[in-house]
Amino acid sequence: MAIRNIRELGDEILRKNCREVKEVTPRIRELIQDMYDTMYEAQGVGLAAPQVGILKRIVVIDVDGTPYTMINPQILEKSGEQTGSEGCLSVPGKAGIVTRPNYVKAEAWNEEMERYEVEAEGLLARAICHELDHLDGVMYVDLVEGDIYDVTAEDEDEE
Ligand code: ZN
Repeated sequence: MAIRNIRELGDEILRKNCREVKEVTPRIRELIQDMYDTMYEAQGVGLAAPQVGILKRIVVIDVDGTPYTMINPQILEKSGEQTGSEGCLSVPGKAGIVTRPNYVKAEAWNEEMERYEVEAEGLLARAICHELDHLDGVMYVDLVEGDIYDVTAEDEDEE
């Protein structure tokens, strides 16, 4: 178990495109475990590999006790709309209003490199969109409606 340093807005690594994962090596397994440890330690609901300085297409998400390891994820379908506040572990203590699809269907590969699909609504759909954006160097501050505002640590989920 290891907690990795979370990169913050302004770090150029957060703006780069991540590379596809071809196989899950022991190092990648360790990275994924560290990403979970880092996310839970920071009380986040999602974390993308570039947030810990690794330019690979890997995200971890846990919004309600069900962890999703998503390798090479892609959104297959989306519909509806939700507008709400969103935060990011790379922008600590801040949040902003972002509109996202209310439903997404995504595909990804797990640690065994088995393909799976996930259908998500609400917060999980928001988290998937947010984390997948990180893999292309996009951050929620690019999409925010109005101003970024300060939040207290207790009342926001950060991704
Ligand atoms: Zn984020």
